[in-house]
Amino acid sequence: NKQILLKSRPVGEPKESDFALTETPISQPGEGEVLSRTIYLSLDPYMRGLISAGESYAANVELNSVIVGGTVSQVIQSNHPQFQAGDFVLSGNGWQTYAVAKGETLRKLDPSQAPLSYSLGVLGMPGLTAYAALLDIGQPKAGETVVISAASGAVGAVAGQIAKIKGCRVIGIVGSDDKRDYIVKELGFDVGINRKTQELDAVLKAAAPDGIDIYFDNTAGVILETVLQQINLGARIPLVGLISEYNAISLPHGPNLRPLLIKRALIKGFLVSDYQHRTNEFVSDVAGWLKSGQLKYKEDVVVGLENAPCAFIGLLRGENFGKLVVKVSED
Ligand code: NDP
Repeated sequence: NKQILLKSRPVGEPKESDFALTETPISQPGEGEVLSRTIYLSLDPYMRGLISAGESYAANVELNSVIVGGTVSQVIQSNHPQFQAGDFVLSGNGWQTYAVAKGETLRKLDPSQAPLSYSLGVLGMPGLTAYAALLDIGQPKAGETVVISAASGAVGAVAGQIAKIKGCRVIGIVGSDDKRDYIVKELGFDVGINRKTQELDAVLKAAAPDGIDIYFDNTAGVILETVLQQINLGARIPLVGLISEYNAISLPHGPNLRPLLIKRALIKGFLVSDYQHRTNEFVSDVAGWLKSGQLKYKEDVVVGLENAPCAFIGLLRGENFGKLVVKVSED
């Protein structure tokens, strides 16, 4: 059994010496287990997080162990009633040529439905990522403008085409002219932008003159920073990937959205003017809580209109204590 082990945790960009090829005897399957031969191994950006020491959204790979990864495999020997030798399965053999797994962790594949390798991509984890993040978080509506980063990749290419199917105008950001031609000419994106040769801010403004309704973020970093300046009222931003940071040794200064992705947190902009319809309910609840003593209120009263400027300057310095009001005349 050929295996690739993690020899050292990469610092910055991974090096070949961080990995080592070894050979071990093939294990035999126990009760309820299945031995399979790896046909296709999926390589995905999340693996960069797994081989580093920091927190990731999946468990880390130990040093000197086989690197994990999704695979399409063929059953060699089965001690599980649902699988027989010859079956094709979706499994997690990782970076090795054979693996033993519990039958419950495998999913049978039908080779007549689609090429087997598709279940690692468009019909697998990346495809589901594109589909669910775009439709459930992005909520595309016909006529809206959608921007997608890493747009020619496993996730981005599917997300962009689903957005087209939903009637959106789709702008893809990629890293080469070949990729740009591909997303526009082959996949039907409306606009492609080469992030390495074009000035993103200006090109995006020209391509999306009415602003951006959905940003499908695969990268974070400067692309996110730039796109945020051009979003529309009520825009939706599925935070899906942070690939611009995966090799970073230290992160750039400023807010970093990684915890939002990992914790599936929701940030939503708020303006009180959108909530006027809640006024009656609000006044009745809060007046009731004031009366019952469940809610306390403190005012900082400054007497005399002439003191307003000074009090206002103080407000911005934190000199007020409680709600600042000016008593202008007797009530
Ligand atoms: P891709 O097939 O898109 O391959 C990665 C691409 O990212 C590269 O080809 C490159 O495209 C782009 N890229 C690399 N470095 C940078 C950088 N510094 N700045 C901008 N772009 C860069 O990978 P996937 O489609 O599999 O994954 C896309 C993203 O989705 C990743 O961030 C991944 O982690 C994330 N993901 C998240 C999941 C989740 O559950 N949250 C699940 C699956 C994927 P180019 O040359 O065009 O710039």
